[in-house]
Parts: sequence; structure tokens; C-alpha cells
Amino acid sequence: MNKGFIRFIAGAVCPSCKEQDKIAISPDDNTIYCLNCDFKEYRPKDPSETNTNTSNPKVFNLDDFRNKNS
Ligand SMILES: [Zn+2]
Repeated sequence: MNKGFIRFIAGAVCPSCKEQDKIAISPDDNTIYCLNCDFKEYRPKDPSETNTNTSNPKVFNLDDFRNKNS
């Protein structure tokens, strides 16, 4: 693979220089970095991605249903 391939995080704002759409993810998904400044942050894997809790049902707001029916 070509190392020139860069994946950006759409809409992400750099916490350091405040520039938007400058945050990219490293090829191994472990680091995010800014192309505009020296910002770099290690990004640990989200445990919820690999350990999906199926016993946690989605909660709906009853008020939303009432508003749609009105
Ligand atoms: Zn930056």
C-alpha cells in the first residue's frame, strides 16, 4: 500500500489550532494528528466497539411519539 493515503475525520476541529478538516487518522488507527499544526493524540480503541452490549436496548422518548401524532 501507498503510505501517501491519508484519511481525514470529516468535520473534526483541531483542539490546538482550531482549524477544521485538518485532523487525519494514522494508517493503524491508533493516532490522530493535525496537518496544520503539531497536534497529535494517541487514540485508544473504544471497548464498546468490540464488546457490544446487546442487553442495552435503545431508549425512546415518549414525548417524541406524542409530538408526531399531534
Ligand atoms: Zn491543528
